Amino acid sequence: MTSDFPSTITIDGTEVRLRVDRKAVKNVNARMGEGGMQVSIPLHLEQAEALRIIGELARRLLRRQRAHQINREDDPAELARRIAQRFPKPPEVRSVEFTTVTSSCWGSYSPRTQSVRLSAALRHMPPWILEAVLAHELAHAIHPNHSPAFWALLRSVYPDTDRARAFLSGVTWLARAWEQLPSVERAQLAAAHEE
Ligand SMILES: [Zn+2]
Repeated sequence: MTSDFPSTITIDGTEVRLRVDRKAVKNVNARMGEGGMQVSIPLHLEQAEALRIIGELARRLLRRQRAHQINREDDPAELARRIAQRFPKPPEVRSVEFTTVTSSCWGSYSPRTQSVRLSAALRHMPPWILEAVLAHELAHAIHPNHSPAFWALLRSVYPDTDRARAFLSGVTWLARAWEQLPSVERAQLAAAHEE
């Protein structure tokens, strides 16, 4: 039986078609496919609660789908290995992966698995920014902190480090401010270009 659930939900700005069936199941089960999201929910689950769970599942599935897609498009491991060669003692890079998990970091390096994780948002920025973040994460293979020695090493392998940091703080600022900006100023920003 199909219940009176909305036929679409909007997650992170993406509209997803939704089909909800009440069934004799224990938990909410969801599948994301080409045609949208198919969900089965327990017979007596309250609608508001069901919608809350569906929203959470949809966000997780959408982000996973996006991560698969973005990692299929482009493997930055080769780029990371080239950057590693600039180090006096090149760090090992086993894998580089874009992630869509929300985090306050642009990237991370795990010395245990010798792998780099990068925010998927970097995929859309100019290539030199991706390089700067890769260099930053690889420098953590040598210095697991932000000590003066870390910055000295990073600036020696990636001289544009400070410009990249300024760019990324601008990005963060704009991402937070965007929703509050009046449309005229938004249009003005979109038309502006570097002098
Ligand atoms: Zn760092």
